[in-house]
Amino acid sequence: MAVGLFKDVEWTPVGVLSLVGQVLAIVFLLVGLSLLVAIAFGYFGYRKGVVLFPQPIVLLIDVFYSPLKRAFSVIHRDPRLVDDISIALRNHLNRDDYAIVPPKDRVILVPQCLRHTRCPAPMSSEDGFGCKVCGLCDIAKIYKVGEAIGTEIYIAPGGRFAKRILARSKEGGKRAVLGVACHTDLYEGMLASKIGKIPAQGVPLSTEGCVATQVDIERVIDMMLVGVEREEAARVRELIA
Ligand code: SF4
Repeated sequence: MAVGLFKDVEWTPVGVLSLVGQVLAIVFLLVGLSLLVAIAFGYFGYRKGVVLFPQPIVLLIDVFYSPLKRAFSVIHRDPRLVDDISIALRNHLNRDDYAIVPPKDRVILVPQCLRHTRCPAPMSSEDGFGCKVCGLCDIAKIYKVGEAIGTEIYIAPGGRFAKRILARSKEGGKRAVLGVACHTDLYEGMLASKIGKIPAQGVPLSTEGCVATQVDIERVIDMMLVGVEREEAARVRELIA
């Protein structure tokens, strides 16, 4: 194809411009096709629970994240599917590195919107909301499990706070992170963790919004207990039964 392209080129300004146009068209076509194939594999894997070519698909999503989300909106598909695919693949890629870190060396970040609307937790600019384990929302379960296995938990008032806590935790010796957040924040958080070389696992909110959001709490507890001995994990689960 390349030889054919250059064979008939007229080496005049118009001819060169035409060549550049053709080369760009081919590049766009190849990029578009790669994206289509990557998303098709990613979507298929996500729906079927199998993982296909995780590394290149995650890379393509990272590079074309915004255009991909726009494209999904244009074809009336939920753009959060792009985040879902990326989060699922990153969870797969990071699982082993996360699992070998003891729970006491992990940190968990949950969003403040997960709290009950009558949450009595006081807010500190240093550490976020301090859960009172009142039981009005599922964060109480996360706290109880965290206390039992020695994992620190932070209720983040925003994405910037979460990034600051992540950096502080890394300086303090934490070596892995479990994040709960809305799709976009979780995608960005897991990307930041990748750049910061901290193995991350993530659970996106099942109901998003500004207040009283929801998450699959069983999935969060499962991820907290990754790497914990079976008997110990069973004992911890009884605490929140
Ligand atoms: S369990 Fe914690 S975070 Fe949830 S409402 Fe009670 S104090 Fe607030």
